[in-house]
Amino acid sequence: MNLKNMLSEKLKPLRVVNNNKFRFYRTLANDVQRWVCCTKTCNANIKYDVNGAICEQNTTHNHEPDDLQSMLRQNFLPQKVSNCVIEQLSDRPSKIIHFEISSTALNVLDSNDITVIRKNIHTALMNIYPKLSRDFPQLHATLPDVIIEIQTKNNEKWIFINDVQYNIVCCTTQMNLDFLNQCDSIFMDSTFSSCPFPFKQLFVIHGFKNSSYAPLFFYLLPNKCHNA
Ligand SMILES: [Zn+2]
Repeated sequence: MNLKNMLSEKLKPLRVVNNNKFRFYRTLANDVQRWVCCTKTCNANIKYDVNGAICEQNTTHNHEPDDLQSMLRQNFLPQKVSNCVIEQLSDRPSKIIHFEISSTALNVLDSNDITVIRKNIHTALMNIYPKLSRDFPQLHATLPDVIIEIQTKNNEKWIFINDVQYNIVCCTTQMNLDFLNQCDSIFMDSTFSSCPFPFKQLFVIHGFKNSSYAPLFFYLLPNKCHNA
């Protein structure tokens, strides 16, 4: 199996086995699922048991397999990317790509394909997240309503400081605060390149415990000064 899953033109899930696309047909006795080849005149089919393992299959096709590169390109069109990104909001694009495509299949894609896929994932993410204002007064006014809508991967609410006087925003969670209490040391670092406008600096405090670092506090600062 090269490409693992993909979506049809109507955004229905398809399974790809040896570069042939299978669509869900129906559920049989004992919750066995029958998937059939997407080519209507072909009798190839696969049955999956309740655990998702193949329990019976006829993979003799009466046609050539699909071209993997064009399947991969199709699967990462913006509207299809949106679907997989919603499930994996907090993952990085590279992780999403590796989750969706096996390493063998990745070799089929050229660097242009990967660039397009990354852009599509980024666009899909940007369409999901609420928009923030681009000037400080409006941003501070709308921020509480935006943050209250967002939860962490563990369904935790964000705890945040919205400092209107110094144009500083700080985010953390109760779990992070509890972790900080158990840390031996803390470390701090900042970046200018991954900071959302109009802020200029993302300053992160990491906790150190059991030989591992964890980012605990995220500060958005209005300038690049050391004393910000
Ligand atoms: Zn077939």
